[in-house]
Amino acid sequence: MNQPLLGIDLGGTKIEIAALAPDDGRFLLRERVPTPIGGYDEMLAALAHLVATAETALGAQGLPLGVGIPGCLSPSSGVVKGANTTLLNGRPLDRDLARLLHRPVRIENDANCLAVSEAVDGAGRGARVVFGAILGTGVGAGIAIDGQVWPGAHGIAGEWGHNPAPRVAADRGVPTPHCWCGRGFCNETVLSGPGFAADHLRHGGAGLDARSIVAAARAGDEAALGSLTRYAERLAGALAQVINLLDPDVIVLGGGLSNIDELFALVPPKWPRHVFSDVIGTPLRPALHGDSSGVRGAAWLWRSRS
Ligand SMILES: [Zn+2]
Repeated sequence: MNQPLLGIDLGGTKIEIAALAPDDGRFLLRERVPTPIGGYDEMLAALAHLVATAETALGAQGLPLGVGIPGCLSPSSGVVKGANTTLLNGRPLDRDLARLLHRPVRIENDANCLAVSEAVDGAGRGARVVFGAILGTGVGAGIAIDGQVWPGAHGIAGEWGHNPAPRVAADRGVPTPHCWCGRGFCNETVLSGPGFAADHLRHGGAGLDARSIVAAARAGDEAALGSLTRYAERLAGALAQVINLLDPDVIVLGGGLSNIDELFALVPPKWPRHVFSDVIGTPLRPALHGDSSGVRGAAWLWRSRS
């Protein structure tokens, strides 16, 4: 049974569907459509339509389907929680899709999908424990062990975006922001793209987005260089907490801010200050599959254990 594996990455603005060949992971099909702006039923119908169209193109039916979402299924209630695509919250998305599509559907957090994708055939290939973080509009992370999601008792394993952010020396006298989640000064408030831009402003920089700050730093702008240095210090401190707790074999970064090449040189040398080990060899790598990691990881949710 070497049938293709279907994955869907359900994002706030786009939905992507892909079919992977189970033996070598090559794309057999991929398509992106805008996320419907109506209600939950419209979302379900759009997902079912995407699956039906893909299966017609592939000449197959009833293919295994995994879906990556910005949130997770609560193990206790069985409904979606924590999704910033809020119409999903409180809904039994896996059961509703299973009923519509006449097959079991596996649903996982999008950062967990990134970790699985990179563990199976990406930047963490061959590693037993992969910590994958998405640094984008928000900050999320997930853990893959032996190429499988490690969900945790509450479905939140790896939810490092809402750990307390490390303070750096430059924060003295500068007010720290509060996270939308209500927990205070979370990693997301400084490590997301909007968080990076807001930090640049707080420290006297111009109103620029993350990409423009990096461009300014590369051009030698001192305020932007300071912001990039603070970002790297914070990321190093936040990832050091992960190393002390989980000691992953590889850390993979995805999301828009993982395109900042400088981070991969700046962050690891800062770890010895924080990590409780005489030797720290943890590789920090950009996601090999880039934007495709979410949809690939969703499809790999049905990969058989080797
Ligand atoms: Zn938070």
